[in-house]
Amino acid sequence: MTFQPRPWIAQLGPYRGGGFARDDAGGLALNEAPWAPGEQVRQAVTAELDHLHRYPDPLGISLRDALASDLGVDADHILLSNGSDELLLLLALSYAGHGGTLLCADPPYRLHEKAGIVAGAEVRAVALREWRHDLAAMAAVEADLAYLCNPHNPTGTLVTGADLRWFLEHGRSKLVVVDEAYIEFADDPALSSVIRLADEGRLVVLRTFSKAFGLAGARLGYLVGPTEVVSTLQAVRPPFSVGRLSQAAGLAALADVTGRAELRAVTRRNREQMTALFAAAGYAAVPSQANFVLILVDDEAEVIDRLGRHGVSVRPGSSLGVPGSIRVTVPGPEGLDRLQAALR
Ligand SMILES: *Cc1c(COP(=O)(O)O)cnc(C)c1O
Repeated sequence: MTFQPRPWIAQLGPYRGGGFARDDAGGLALNEAPWAPGEQVRQAVTAELDHLHRYPDPLGISLRDALASDLGVDADHILLSNGSDELLLLLALSYAGHGGTLLCADPPYRLHEKAGIVAGAEVRAVALREWRHDLAAMAAVEADLAYLCNPHNPTGTLVTGADLRWFLEHGRSKLVVVDEAYIEFADDPALSSVIRLADEGRLVVLRTFSKAFGLAGARLGYLVGPTEVVSTLQAVRPPFSVGRLSQAAGLAALADVTGRAELRAVTRRNREQMTALFAAAGYAAVPSQANFVLILVDDEAEVIDRLGRHGVSVRPGSSLGVPGSIRVTVPGPEGLDRLQAALR
């Protein structure tokens, strides 16, 4: 007798990661922040070590309440998670698993599609149109759960809040999840975010501390959504999935309003500069509203090799469903210098 994963699990390919950087400045493959968290976060995490023999608060009430007032939403509508990737899996298991249908874009954020496969859902992927979600085509698909990504990963494109409201009114998906992992980097986040609509309707919004808060290593995300969804996922989730150090780091990072503003400002400025560097070297870019840019290239391997020789690692588009491109995280000043040297 031999053991086998369940057939829908067996169809998953091996996980292909972004390639970890040799050093901090050159790691432009995973959309991380270009610098480490500030002193407040360090102190908060250090202080929390005194309590590390005790389980964390399962709901992270202090952080949840601080988020509620920061976002202007009710605390009952928020659920913290071990990165928003955990929520993608929990939502797929709870609302599309065991033969339900999950709608996403093609190419999708990989974990949107993968969560559906792992849950045993039928995944229906709708092709992007001019690098954006084709909301009209997506609205026509009947699905138990829809995963939209705004701005989208891997393209960096945005759809407006008005278009999303149209989708919510006319789309045939039962529960709609909008993944706003990068929304803070948009020129006008309020114009596109639908977080204020995620109350008792059928909309869930996902956010993360990994990108705009610069805490990818802490593994901290959250959703804003109907209380019914919050309580369903509370029943499904491992109760202690968000550790004490992560909760402490999140609380301190949230309070560091200046640090957040600086990361956002530098990212937006360097996004322009990086796009200009690639343009000067003859490469077109998909206009991005995120902390990465999809650059169009003829020969992925050649460009990746050239950047690699200057200590820069990026994500091959072929691993993201966009062959003929590379996805480059917006760097800090040193990373920008390296890109300039490599592209000269
Ligand atoms: C990075 C990213 C996330 C965040 O994942 P975490 O698990 O919170 O680190 C979620 N969605 C998208 C589209 C992302 O690119």
